[in-house]
Amino acid sequence: MSKDKQFVTEITPQGEDFSRWYIDVIKKADLMDYSPVRGCIVFKPDGYEIWEHIKDELDRRFKETGHRNAYFPLFIPESFFQKEKEHVEGFNPELPWVTEAAGEKLEERLAIRPTSETMIGHMYSKWIQSYRDLPVLINQWANVVRWEKRTLPFLRTSEFLWQEGHTAHETEEEARQETMQMLEIYCDFVENYLAIPVIKGQKTPSEKFAGAVDTYSIEAMMKDGRAVQAGTSHFMGTNFSTAFEIQYLNRENTLEYAHTTSWGVSTRLIGSLIMVHGDDRGLVLPPKVAPTQVIMVPIGPPKTWEAVVARTDELFSELKSAGIRVRVDDNTDVRPGWKFNEYEMRGVPVRLEIGPRDMENGVCVLVSRITGEKKIVQQANLVEEVQAMLDQVHQEMYDRAKEFREDHFYSVDTLDEMKESMEEKRGFTLAGWCGSEACEDTVKQETGATSRNIPFEPSEQKKICLVCGEEANHTVLFARAY
Ligand code: AMP
Repeated sequence: MSKDKQFVTEITPQGEDFSRWYIDVIKKADLMDYSPVRGCIVFKPDGYEIWEHIKDELDRRFKETGHRNAYFPLFIPESFFQKEKEHVEGFNPELPWVTEAAGEKLEERLAIRPTSETMIGHMYSKWIQSYRDLPVLINQWANVVRWEKRTLPFLRTSEFLWQEGHTAHETEEEARQETMQMLEIYCDFVENYLAIPVIKGQKTPSEKFAGAVDTYSIEAMMKDGRAVQAGTSHFMGTNFSTAFEIQYLNRENTLEYAHTTSWGVSTRLIGSLIMVHGDDRGLVLPPKVAPTQVIMVPIGPPKTWEAVVARTDELFSELKSAGIRVRVDDNTDVRPGWKFNEYEMRGVPVRLEIGPRDMENGVCVLVSRITGEKKIVQQANLVEEVQAMLDQVHQEMYDRAKEFREDHFYSVDTLDEMKESMEEKRGFTLAGWCGSEACEDTVKQETGATSRNIPFEPSEQKKICLVCGEEANHTVLFARAY
């Protein structure tokens, strides 16, 4: 057997070393490659196409809620960063600078954007004069750079792709509504499109975005029990409008600062869906973002091969016309069993097998990637049957991920219990917190877990702070995180 055909045995089992499993899978499934620049990756076509499907659906939802896309420059003058104190402190350590261009030293250093609040704040101050100019509802699809010390493909890279929404409003209430609306859109999208259950909540002050009044997040559990912050939505209050003078004449003709928001999700979502759904055989892709939703594998001896392939092609056209992303593998150099393994490893949600006898009987076989279930279906109903199986795979993936999260969800009252929870059980752990940064920091130092968020709907309300034993003001979700 040639080297590239032994892939399945080359994937490290999850239980042996989850991090190695992750790297093996993304390399073998050909989603990415490392670039010569540290912390930056190349998105190969299958990896990039997952992002395109994420992008298309989110873009549709953003537009449906009144947002429009625009594009702002990659370079941000240094002076812009000095205007919002917390923002500069938060981002300074991660900024790469352009100091020279065309052989000449620049008068002012330019940062490569880590996020665009400053540039967009500057532009909004020019565009917004009156309450009639509000709200401004703009989104940008772009790349950003944060010079991360610790990187991991998709989940944390130095350059990543994302969208950043930036809105400005007349009132605090309206801006807060926008912040929540976008969090809801993220939650609905991640659950119903990526089949990942998430926990919505508010970040503690130490974990919020640099310069925000309030940050909200959705948190997902990976298969090793660690958390990923899958999306964030920030209420900025008037922090950025004060720094950038985004002022408008209100309905009473007096000058006021606008209330702004920002919100983003990134290519981290790709890493998340791999870590939530993948198994020892490889990727398991949510049907709605899978580059190939159905792989058709014709089977049979040379005698009937041409007829089977011809019928496969007809069925392919039907599925394709119905908008299903389908491919045929009629390569005769490898055996069907090899193909089954290959497409399972690549996470294709549904496999369709068709042989000479199936052809005679007007049927074919659909196989679910997640359960391995085989279903004999009538060719006459193929489109409906395939669609039903894709929906079923999605639901099964969501249910399994949720069950896994429930099985790894704990609640503790003391720091010792938290240590034990993090060392031995691994997962999400609810605990009471008094609200002091010192106690939050102690948890981090002693257990390696960080506060993920203060869930909107915790499964129980904790009464005492796990560190100091005083009354708990919040019930917090803790986990080790990527
Ligand atoms: P933030 O602007 O920090 O709120 O981040 C916006 C989104 O980008 C969040 O969903 C983050 O989880 C994600 N994100 C932050 N840093 C990175 C990174 N280095 N690589 C990939 N995604 C990131």
